[in-house]
Amino acid sequence: MVNSMVQTPKGKEGDTLAPKTLEAALASLAQEGAIPYAGGTDLMVAEDERRPFLFLHNIAELQGFSEDDEYYRLGAGLTYTRIMNDKRMPALLVEAASQIAAPAIRNAGTIGGNIANASPKADSALVLVATDSLVRLVSAAGERVIPIGQFLVGRQKTTRRPDELLVEILMPKRWLADYRFTKVGGRKALAISRVSFAGLFAAESGVIQHLALAFGAVEDTIVRRPQIDGLLIGKSVEEARALSEEWLAAWDAAITPLRGRVSARYRKQVCLNLAAAFLKSRLESTD
Ligand SMILES: Cc1cc2nc3c(=O)[nH]c(=O)nc-3n(C[C@H](O)[C@H](O)[C@H](O)COP(=O)(O)OP(=O)(O)OC[C@H]3O[C@@H](n4cnc5c(N)ncnc54)[C@H](O)[C@@H]3O)c2cc1C
Repeated sequence: MVNSMVQTPKGKEGDTLAPKTLEAALASLAQEGAIPYAGGTDLMVAEDERRPFLFLHNIAELQGFSEDDEYYRLGAGLTYTRIMNDKRMPALLVEAASQIAAPAIRNAGTIGGNIANASPKADSALVLVATDSLVRLVSAAGERVIPIGQFLVGRQKTTRRPDELLVEILMPKRWLADYRFTKVGGRKALAISRVSFAGLFAAESGVIQHLALAFGAVEDTIVRRPQIDGLLIGKSVEEARALSEEWLAAWDAAITPLRGRVSARYRKQVCLNLAAAFLKSRLESTD
């Protein structure tokens, strides 16, 4: 199914690049150095004079969804509305998608655009960082699959080469059962995050098997520090309680919020409160 919410400018179809296959898109990208255009919800508001655009909405290969034992495989061109309406989708991602903007934006905006735009406030990207998802980048010359943390390297900076398209996201299925997604915004509708949080937790027989926290809207990129959460992995609930101050202090030292409309101190404190509350609730419910 193609994304019918995107319209190429009327009467200009001949001047724009709107390929119908991935192969044709990659060929155009290699030759023209065009700017990929998915839902346009970020590009429309960007002060970006670069052209031409390569419209992606006709390309069926970007709209797929499948799963195997290890991964959910999400086409980069899936809109939030499609993610929310598909019962096979992981609940954590559906929750993040449903808190993005308003229906009009969710009808056009895509998960691939959210990642490739590389905003530290991007909500679906936050979930994908917390879950250590992978991204599949394809060019006419070949493809590579890399951790999303190696793709998002700064504010509006990715390691995508100009001839590559983000085609698919591989979200690991493991550790998704117990999660929290929280968006601390100014108001409910159309709220761009001031601080956002995604956390995953798993324990078995009283021993922590997995802990993964990610924070959005605080630094230039989404913050994820596996080595800090690793302090508690493999520990019993009692040991984790004893280590929790050290764990929180490590997060305190690791987060350096940039100044924005909301003070850096406030955002750091919100992050630490979210982290502490998440861990406490999980330790309390683990026996
Ligand atoms: C009013 C409003 C409210 C919003 N609220 C939220 C919110 O609550 N949470 C949130 O996270 N975001 C929000 N956004 C931002 C935006 O809607 C999302 O980031 C959206 O997912 C972008 O997807 P898109 O398909 O529209 O991307 P586009 O605008 O088409 O593209 C964004 C960037 O990604 C690149 N790109 C797109 N697809 C690919 C691809 N397949 N391969 C390589 N590069 C690609 C483009 O070249 C461009 O650089 C909001 C935007 C608006 C205008």
